[in-house]
Amino acid sequence: MIKYILNGFLNFVLPDSCVSCQNIVQDSGNYLCAKCYKELEPYNENHPWQSEQVSNGTIDISFSAFWFREGKPIQPLLHAMKYSKMKGVGVMLGGELGKKLAPQFKNEFDLILPVPLHKGKQRERTYNQSEFIARGVSEIFNVPVLNDCLTRTRFTGTQTKLNKAERKENVSGAFTVNQKSASAIRGKNIILVDDVITTGATILECARILKQAGSGKICIASAAYAELKINVV
Ligand SMILES: [Zn+2]
Repeated sequence: MIKYILNGFLNFVLPDSCVSCQNIVQDSGNYLCAKCYKELEPYNENHPWQSEQVSNGTIDISFSAFWFREGKPIQPLLHAMKYSKMKGVGVMLGGELGKKLAPQFKNEFDLILPVPLHKGKQRERTYNQSEFIARGVSEIFNVPVLNDCLTRTRFTGTQTKLNKAERKENVSGAFTVNQKSASAIRGKNIILVDDVITTGATILECARILKQAGSGKICIASAAYAELKINVV
């Protein structure tokens, strides 16, 4: 009985089957088998709106680790992180993101901030997946994660059916910088982290208010980049 419970616990903590194809995973920390892991497609381009946002001063750098592709292993991987309490997936994806950013930017950033969920949403899900991605980035950069700096004051709902302009309007004024954290971010170079970036509306709004509050450079980064019109998990 004890062995049964212990096995169940270990399987929960360290899943031994691939979240995409259910085959055995050799290295449990990866959550994907070697075959599915190879199918993750690195995102090596600039976000389509990056130069516009750099030139208008909202951000300084933007990055994503992987392409979001429907029906590919990235989809069940993000789904497991978001809905199956597999927080370790977030740390793993954050590690991948951090490794990609570090060669160029290792000593340039002071803080990592996750994009917050609305309080009600976080209560329902019990955790913010982006905090775990932030932790993965932080392990590579060796700088702290600040979880309670930003607050999502307005519930913005799902944005999957909205176009670029509607998304921008939808998130406008939806975040605030907490008074207590204002001094902690002043002049600091920040990596702002989310799970998926599409039009960038949400994360750019966060970047905008951080700059307004006096932050230094802002890098916006995500585990995955999805083209608009794709129904993300
Ligand atoms: Zn697999």
